[in-house]
Amino acid sequence: MSGSVKLNVGGTVFQVERSTLNVIPGSLLSSLDNIQSRYEKTTDCYYFDRDPVSFCHVLNAYRDGELHVTRDVCPQQFRRDLEFWGLTLDLLAPCCWKYFYEAMEDVDTLTSIMDRLKHHKSMSRVANTQTNQLTQDKPDGGLTDPNNFSFKLWMFLEEPTSSLAAKLYRGFDIMLLSLESSFREFVLLLFAFIVCIIIYGIMLFAAEAEKDNFQNVFTAMWWALITMTTIGYGDYYPTTALGYCVGAVCAINGLIVLALPIAALASNFSNFYSHHSNMQKHENEINMQMTNKMTVDSVESLQTTKGDNQHKH
Ligand SMILES: [Zn+2]
Repeated sequence: MSGSVKLNVGGTVFQVERSTLNVIPGSLLSSLDNIQSRYEKTTDCYYFDRDPVSFCHVLNAYRDGELHVTRDVCPQQFRRDLEFWGLTLDLLAPCCWKYFYEAMEDVDTLTSIMDRLKHHKSMSRVANTQTNQLTQDKPDGGLTDPNNFSFKLWMFLEEPTSSLAAKLYRGFDIMLLSLESSFREFVLLLFAFIVCIIIYGIMLFAAEAEKDNFQNVFTAMWWALITMTTIGYGDYYPTTALGYCVGAVCAINGLIVLALPIAALASNFSNFYSHHSNMQKHENEINMQMTNKMTVDSVESLQTTKGDNQHKH
């Protein structure tokens, strides 16, 4: 057997050393004997009906021992290609982690938004059936009556752009969803806060012990909470030099503990929000295409009926 082998991937022929293909054991190409059914004698090629662009990067993984993600193919599709070629993600080079895993996270975000919207639609369907049951005497189920409460509810849930309230409700719901997904950050924030309040409370109580400003250690913890949240009522305050030092550190620490998770929450929310607005743009675009198609269809059908009538005359 010769040293090199030809692979025809989606019409593009790649030539590669046989020894190179042995570098990643367990992958599809590592054992050519198992894929003899793909061998075409006339062209002396193994044929695969896959994307040649991502195969370029797959082949480089054999050559370099590490996998880089192509920017020309959606990471979601690249992942499917990797599954086909039998490559695992432990070959993925660190420089491509951010690009690849952020794209995967985007997919998760989109899925959770879509699930939430599906929930709305099923709710609106319930409202719809109830309306039909209530107003069976009307031929259209009363749904087209704009004063009907159920019609309003249905429009509210089905068409987020139907009213300002519906838009606001959708925005609020997306915010809730992003908060739900940031549950871990919330717990972290709460935990860090409680630990800091206990520590600073005890430290300040010890520092101010001689002055008797704080009745007990819990008032000192209350002071720590009010200082760390940057509220600062001023009902309790340190008076000793050591107390001032504790107060200064406590205030700065409060800012940091508060700022870090809130930044994470904010970026999470903006991520959810942009995904949601893109989804709406997509829906609007599709609706517009459908309306255009319907208009074209009705014009065409009108013209054919006209033509038929002219034939008859
Ligand atoms: Zn890379």
